[in-house]
Amino acid sequence: MPPVRKVIILGSGPAGLTAAIYAGRGNLVPLVLAGSQPGGQLTLTTLVENFPGFVDPIMGPDLMTVMRKQAEHFGTEIRDEDAVAVDLRVHPFTVKTTDATYQSQALIIATGASAKLLGLESERRLLGRGMSTCATCDGFFFKDQEIVVVGGGDSAMEEALFLTKFATHVEVIHRRNHLRASKIMQDRARRNETIGFTWDTVVEEILGADKVAGVRLRDLKTGAVWERPCQGVFVAIGHTPNTELFADLLELNDRGYIATRPWSTVTSISGVFAAGDVQDNVFRQAVTAAGTGCMAAMEAERYLESLHD
Ligand code: NAP
Repeated sequence: MPPVRKVIILGSGPAGLTAAIYAGRGNLVPLVLAGSQPGGQLTLTTLVENFPGFVDPIMGPDLMTVMRKQAEHFGTEIRDEDAVAVDLRVHPFTVKTTDATYQSQALIIATGASAKLLGLESERRLLGRGMSTCATCDGFFFKDQEIVVVGGGDSAMEEALFLTKFATHVEVIHRRNHLRASKIMQDRARRNETIGFTWDTVVEEILGADKVAGVRLRDLKTGAVWERPCQGVFVAIGHTPNTELFADLLELNDRGYIATRPWSTVTSISGVFAAGDVQDNVFRQAVTAAGTGCMAAMEAERYLESLHD
């Protein structure tokens, strides 16, 4: 077994890498287990215009490459390994990956969340090319264009409302004829003249060779199939926090995200911290993830100091 580390960070999105930058600068020589999708959700987006510090937009994958280099610059070791099991009942904590077993005194969980997708081949191919799962991130690129939003929950209403700032029309496609969204969000969306609704309908295919040109729709009641031209498709059918390894070990909130104390990244186990989208189902932004990553590193540092008291 390799020597016990001071801190291991699971995940290499903005939360994990910011935690690494801070922990590295704090001389904790962190180990980042970057996972099978290094860089997290930002690697699935194209231009990022709202991360402070970049007057010219930066590509999501490029931003993550820079963050990774910055973390390494301060002594972070990064391994592109996937954690497959953790033991948090015994201290020091144990993390098993596909390749090795590690131990650490503090653990920062920054495994993120994954946007649920419809499961269409065209959806993955056109992700970042007119197909998106985040209106705040990408809405700006759809000025004066026609957009389709898929989903009937609060996220879909929120995305649709936000997108009306840019789009000429936003059509919400929902698989039932009742919205799941809260009444207030429903009312707001229904009152907005830029938003239309297509009920009892699913997206069968997103059309376009290298950028979105439309959607093929199917009415679940009549079986009718037709095409609707649009330049943007926003899939807003929920997110899944990546908590499978911790579900039986750590307290989760009622939506399945890792529960942390208010204004803190402290979890239900002392020495284990959670940052970024795995504990935030409200903001879900790169910059807020980076912020909680910073908090986690500072709290881990304090925790490690307390072990000497
Ligand atoms: P959600 O409430 O689970 O809604 C998901 C929506 O997507 C549902 O309408 C669902 O349809 C639809 N859907 C799921 N899988 C689908 C599929 N494969 N194909 C087509 N449609 C599919 O998720 P959410 O909207 O992300 O909200 C999650 C939680 O966060 C909720 O508690 C919500 O209140 C909260 N939230 C609040 C706000 C706010 O208050 N501003 C904003 C965002 C989220 P069915 O209705 O048929 O199941």
